Amino acid sequence: MGLVRLFIDEPLGAGQAVTLSPAQAHYLSGVMRLGEGAEIEIFNGRDGAWLAELGRVSKRGGAAIAKSQSAPQRMPPDLWLIFAPIKKARTDFIVEKAAEMGAARIIPVQTEFTNAERIRQDRLQAHAIEAAEQCGGTFVPPVDDLIRLDRLLSGWDGARRILWADEALAGPSELLAGQPQGPWAILIGPEGGFSPAERDRLRGTDFVIPVSLGPRILRADTAAVAALALWQAALGDWR
Ligand code: SAM
Repeated sequence: MGLVRLFIDEPLGAGQAVTLSPAQAHYLSGVMRLGEGAEIEIFNGRDGAWLAELGRVSKRGGAAIAKSQSAPQRMPPDLWLIFAPIKKARTDFIVEKAAEMGAARIIPVQTEFTNAERIRQDRLQAHAIEAAEQCGGTFVPPVDDLIRLDRLLSGWDGARRILWADEALAGPSELLAGQPQGPWAILIGPEGGFSPAERDRLRGTDFVIPVSLGPRILRADTAAVAALALWQAALGDWR
């Protein structure tokens, strides 16, 4: 079994003492049965991964000391995922998979047909952290608060292209053929798809590139993973 990995939001370096939250301490001692002297791997999203030795662990928390760097910091490509939240478990899935698939930032958007009016940003961020711990990553994508799609587009820097997964195009896909590298974001709609007004606006925006994800209409969570995979293979760090 590999080492238990934990995200710690504190500076990391040789000899650096770090604090474990009560939840982390419970996971280490109660679930993984690790105690003082055990080795774990910790990372903070900035300083790479570090082997660390556990100090005392109790219900109220614990401590560890970083010993040596086990992996350099690895940043994902400059790709953001914009998605409309759907049902809770499927929204959790999208965030978890986006973190695993190497998204650099996750932006939940409220579109006209989005059911959710609010999200639990802290819960979604915790899912992104868990995914990074689990997949051996050293980076955790930040998860934004919910923002309305029209507001997001109004403040958008056009240097970042948006790959718009447009269900109306479902059919043969020439996804990303000839598209340039650089900053990108992927936009996935809700269960009801995009409204006519949103579709007009997106179609009239020059940094938005509509694409088909094949002949079948995919669920939004499947569409997010499919689009991330295609982008990573064509323009990202899978090449
Ligand atoms: N209700 C919509 C319809 O019947 O046309 C389907 C919406 S789909 C469940 C959710 C989102 O996934 C869409 O808004 C789009 O972003 C993406 N999507 C699903 N299948 C797609 C496809 N074949 N091509 C492009 N985007 C797709």
